[in-house]
Amino acid sequence: MKTLAAGFAAASLLALASAAPSAPTRTAAAPAGRPWMNPSLSADRRVALLLPRMTEEEKLKLVFGWFATDFPPKNYTMPPEGREGSAGYVPGIPRLGIPPQWQTDAGIGVASQGGAKQKRERTALPSGIATAATWNPATAFLGGKMIGAEARASGFNVMLAGGVDLLRDPRNGRNFEYGGEDPLLAGTMVGAQIAGIQSNAIISTVKHYALNDLETGRDYHNAVIAPDAARMSDLLAFQIAIERSDPGSVMCAYNQVNGAHACESRWLLTDVLRRDWGWKGFVMSDWGATHSTEAAANAGLDQDSGFPFDKQPYFGAPLKAAIGAGRVPRARLDEMTGRILRSMFAHGLFDRPVTPGPIDLAAHAAISRADAEEGAVLLKNARGVLPLSASAKRIVIIGGHADVGVLAGGGSSLVYAVGGNAVPGLEPKGWPGPVVYYPNSPLRALKALLPSAEISYVDGNDPAAAAAAARGADVALVFLTQWAGEAFDVPFNLAGNQDALVEAVAAANPKTVAVLETGGPVAMPWAGRVAGILEAWYPGTAGGEAIANLLTGRADPSGRLPATFAKDERQLPRPTLPGSGLKDGEMFTVDYSEGATVGYKWFDAKRLEPLFPFGHGLSYTRFQHGGLTAAMRGGQLTVSFRVKNVGNRRGKDVPQVYVAPPAGAGWEAPKRLAAFRKVELAPGASAAVTATIDPRLLATFADGRWRIAGGAYRLVLAHSSRDPGESVTVQVPARTLAAGWRP
Ligand code: BGC
Repeated sequence: MKTLAAGFAAASLLALASAAPSAPTRTAAAPAGRPWMNPSLSADRRVALLLPRMTEEEKLKLVFGWFATDFPPKNYTMPPEGREGSAGYVPGIPRLGIPPQWQTDAGIGVASQGGAKQKRERTALPSGIATAATWNPATAFLGGKMIGAEARASGFNVMLAGGVDLLRDPRNGRNFEYGGEDPLLAGTMVGAQIAGIQSNAIISTVKHYALNDLETGRDYHNAVIAPDAARMSDLLAFQIAIERSDPGSVMCAYNQVNGAHACESRWLLTDVLRRDWGWKGFVMSDWGATHSTEAAANAGLDQDSGFPFDKQPYFGAPLKAAIGAGRVPRARLDEMTGRILRSMFAHGLFDRPVTPGPIDLAAHAAISRADAEEGAVLLKNARGVLPLSASAKRIVIIGGHADVGVLAGGGSSLVYAVGGNAVPGLEPKGWPGPVVYYPNSPLRALKALLPSAEISYVDGNDPAAAAAAARGADVALVFLTQWAGEAFDVPFNLAGNQDALVEAVAAANPKTVAVLETGGPVAMPWAGRVAGILEAWYPGTAGGEAIANLLTGRADPSGRLPATFAKDERQLPRPTLPGSGLKDGEMFTVDYSEGATVGYKWFDAKRLEPLFPFGHGLSYTRFQHGGLTAAMRGGQLTVSFRVKNVGNRRGKDVPQVYVAPPAGAGWEAPKRLAAFRKVELAPGASAAVTATIDPRLLATFADGRWRIAGGAYRLVLAHSSRDPGESVTVQVPARTLAAGWRP
């Protein structure tokens, strides 16, 4: 958990602070005689020119990260040159023109630490899983570009954004920060977001590498998985995100992987990341995820972040001693420093210094709203209950604080919004809280859109009173929330009386619509008894307006599920949450024995019927797919098909192509997502789509290579993973690809 380690006394923290390299003053303007400042040289060349000019002390400074927020209980005072209330600060070297690194969380925008004296008020995108649900990389890129611009304008040149741990368990408290359960979808969407962030000439950080797929016991639990299965699942998501965005940094995770701390796993940090993928950026630890000096440095950790969170000093003075004693080769310090500098050169940190400046909050709200509208998933719409028709004169809104705001996820990624917290005072108020509702009210937005309707609000605390209010209404909208956050996992069922509430309202009014604001998939035992269900996730700072636009049909829902919604926990690979019932700190193993059989692959392999399948999502219009063909062209498997809008309004569809292997290919599942495309069409219009299929999605990983079995592969063009769709068969020749093969 991200709290200062128990037993790490204030005195030792202060001693460490003074033993550590001291924080410098501002970066000076570059004088002559600094050839590495020439932006026309390659990043590698610039490193080669600069590194030999650095002293060992200076190198040690660059690999050592400070926390940029005061922590009074431990007498820790942030360096004054940091950006107050943020996650990290690494001093620059003014003598050589090396700028500091000002590091901020995270995936939905510029966050503030809970302990910040002053919270930065910034734009929050919808949660990561909501953006993944758009299935639109262009939307993810735009969102990334927007939050990267806010980071830059806030004086940050490193964003700790780009979470791509796979959704293996709906109870993971951080699912909302990630890109769902499928490696192609998650890697593509998170990669697009990182590319958008880095388009601002700042670094972004893909995380948490790897298999930080549960929060319970995250600091110590041991995630066990067959290495080849990891390559085809979680690691493939990272691999795709990295090759699509070339992030300046990778953050290694808190947990252990196959018996080694992620931040001292040579397999993860060196064999996979460097040898196989050829990635050239730097690895930073999560805050408190470093557990050693030489083991971490020698395994491939390049920068120790937020040192006050470590149990004891590991980099800084101890690293200097380890180098002096020959336990860490001096060349390794050069490599660590060189990688950090390389990313700083490659991503513009030297050439385009960040300067705090104004932010166009109105323009950014529009980007956040568009993302929220595109990511919400209309799961059910019986008898066309939505969009709300003009004849709906009496509408009752129930629960979820929908009168005042929309929910946000908790922990380090929390962005504080202009206007503060719409529901202050909810528990927990401290870490990983506070629980925040952005002051963008669905009720107010609906009233603005439907001025002639009578819209009332009932808080939902009393199901009987809510049912009574619903009885006389034309439509009842029940808002259901699940607060999730960092450092804890969540129950699969909605908390409190919410299931009873929706049951009571649905029994009173057949035109009941459930609107969910959840971190990820939740149980909906009442799904059969409501007319409509809209999954809005955590919809960000313009979320109330986005929800109102969707409910009224101003926006057409086009989100598709990036994760399977199970009926109940018995359908999950681990019906009981690992680590539950154990004392805090008691070691346990999370056995990912399902390997790469994650999400819909698990449901397919086990022949389980989900509540809502991966890829599912409705629209207010209808789309027809057809004309699927597949062929090997120039050695690449290529598919083509047509999509037509056969309804009577404009909308966006997500045709999905799944691939099934020939008999005996030894796949983890009957089929995999192989391609997808977001297509916007006017009524009556159609589009021709052609996509090439990443050959790794036809392969299994074994003996250090991707291996495609020759034979007949079946391609299915579908609306979801459970849609039988239209299929064709194509002969694919056998082929092997290097572990680091990239498109
Ligand atoms: C989180 C990271 C975050 C870091 C810095 C940690 O608690 O796991 O995601 O970037 O803190 O705030």
